[in-house]
Amino acid sequence: MLEKPAPSAEQTATQWVDAFGRALTGGDEAALAKLFLPDSHWRNLFGISWQLATASGNESLCRELSRRASEVRASEFRVDTAALAPRRAVVAGREVIEAIICFDTSHGPGIGAIRLVYQAHAPPLAWTISTTLDFNRICDARSRRTTPVSHARDFAGRDWFEERQAEIAFEGREPDVLVVGGGHAGISAAVELKRIGLDALVIDKAARVGDNWRLRYHGLKLHNKTPVNHLRYLPFPPTFPDYIPKDRIANWLESYVDIMEINFWTGTTFEGAAYEEAAQRWTAHVQRADGAARTLRPKHIVIATSVSGTPNIPNIETLENFAGNILHSSQFGGGREWASRPVVVFGTGTSAHDICQELHAHGAGVTMVQRSPTMVVNVDPSAQLYDQSYLGEGPPIDIRDVLNSGIPLAVIKASHKLITNEVKKLDAALLQRLEKVGFRLEFGEDGTGWPLKFRTRGGGYYFNVGCSELIADRKIRLIQATDIRRFTADGLELRDGSTLRAELVVLATGYKGLDHVVASRFGEAVAKRVGPIWGFDDKTQELRNMWTRTPQPGLWFTGGAFSQCRIYSRYIALQIDAIEAGKLAK
Ligand SMILES: Cc1cc2nc3c(=O)[nH]c(=O)nc-3n(C[C@H](O)[C@H](O)[C@H](O)COP(=O)(O)OP(=O)(O)OC[C@H]3O[C@@H](n4cnc5c(N)ncnc54)[C@H](O)[C@@H]3O)c2cc1C
Repeated sequence: MLEKPAPSAEQTATQWVDAFGRALTGGDEAALAKLFLPDSHWRNLFGISWQLATASGNESLCRELSRRASEVRASEFRVDTAALAPRRAVVAGREVIEAIICFDTSHGPGIGAIRLVYQAHAPPLAWTISTTLDFNRICDARSRRTTPVSHARDFAGRDWFEERQAEIAFEGREPDVLVVGGGHAGISAAVELKRIGLDALVIDKAARVGDNWRLRYHGLKLHNKTPVNHLRYLPFPPTFPDYIPKDRIANWLESYVDIMEINFWTGTTFEGAAYEEAAQRWTAHVQRADGAARTLRPKHIVIATSVSGTPNIPNIETLENFAGNILHSSQFGGGREWASRPVVVFGTGTSAHDICQELHAHGAGVTMVQRSPTMVVNVDPSAQLYDQSYLGEGPPIDIRDVLNSGIPLAVIKASHKLITNEVKKLDAALLQRLEKVGFRLEFGEDGTGWPLKFRTRGGGYYFNVGCSELIADRKIRLIQATDIRRFTADGLELRDGSTLRAELVVLATGYKGLDHVVASRFGEAVAKRVGPIWGFDDKTQELRNMWTRTPQPGLWFTGGAFSQCRIYSRYIALQIDAIEAGKLAK
């Protein structure tokens, strides 16, 4: 007798989603539980209820999902084969079927991703499911309702350029949303706020859009490959290099702001703001480029001043003895003026390495001081292995973002551990040479590598673009902070009795996080109310206070990598839109 062919990935996914939809809409929690693995996860990105949270474990997942789904009348679950033909894949070493699903809720249409695991002699069970509101479909449906005017009949009226100038000026008009900081994070938030129909203004203290990159050290290129870094709506052209140089990304951001019609005030510093409960608005003080003060009254403020924006200057014992120049890495202008001069660089993160390399290239005598163990990973291919889902042939970026953001933290950890093991093998020769000269290495919590180091502490790693070889070859000297006895007027005295001359000390000692910005611009009371920002919350398994309502009404945070801002900015827009429509409490 002929054996029945195994069902295709599409048939399997469809059968599971049909059963899932029946169990969920029928309120049958027992049937629902039979569809999930014991170690399953549901990541809700505002798709079913206004929460960004991950529920883990069959029992709590099913209880939470049932309750939330009935609140928003989630229904019509189906496999979206047009978005992605369901396919076999390997995620964190596990063979899965992955598919895109869509559904309807009282908040709007939803989209998500499922990963099913085959069972011996039983239908496959879900390991992960994610649910998010479908921002694109929500905005498309709204724009279809407004009829565009083909041509202006009044030729004496304002043309596009004049309209834009008036829009940007905000004369006699208050923005719905003030976005503070116009790097990619602020710009990405503004583009989604505009698309959903909110009036947003971005301010940045820099003189020109893109100066956040333009003014960084010479020779800087982005570290992630170009397809990972796309902004929404306007992907980089295929002619762009694998790694974009700093001035090119700066110019791209400037063009993007123009093309996407983002209202942007350059040379404008945010001094601080206070919230008026009665008016449900902020009184925000800003200083314009010409020195004029202006008060704005937005309903919401989005802070996008970088998750690591304020220079961190640690207390380094006896540094006060040193009579030479001391610069934080953010103040380092370039290596040229330090040619043939001795320089000591504190730190072993990306900035420290890049500054050491630049100084060395200009003929300076460079010593790097290591304070704590650091992850070193070759920029190519090792560092890129964590971003495989964005590289090579595959579905459009929007769908890759749904797939990627559908992976819960526990699965990311498992996956990154495997990748880090692979990376260690690939980079073994370099890592051994580094250890030989005394470089202390580490590989992230539980060996999970650089991406989670970024999300927990905003750094602590170096993508090697050549500096590690210079250290291993002893062309750049490495010492440990514990080797230092004390600073002298012209350098360092080491514990072995030797001395080290220096004319410049660079403190590549990192940056303070957003908590510091809140305390300094909104006051201690607001900072206390909001609590820690960035880093994971144990209960929700999500980044704290990022892209979600915070305990301070009308205050929002965005930041992180290009890919994070591309994926999550839309949720700020969706929530503010719902608040302004009276559908969601501030
Ligand atoms: C060498 C290197 C390579 C990197 N490569 C990548 C990569 O490939 N992909 C990736 O995703 N990330 C990369 N990053 C990391 C990260 O994306 C960047 O550091 C990025 O600049 C963060 O963007 P942001 O918009 O959050 O903050 P920023 O770019 O720092 O922008 C914040 C803005 O806020 C403004 N601001 C601050 N305070 C105020 C105030 N009070 N009033 C008004 N304006 C204010 C600042 O002027 C600034 O323009 C890289 C970083 C480095 C150093």
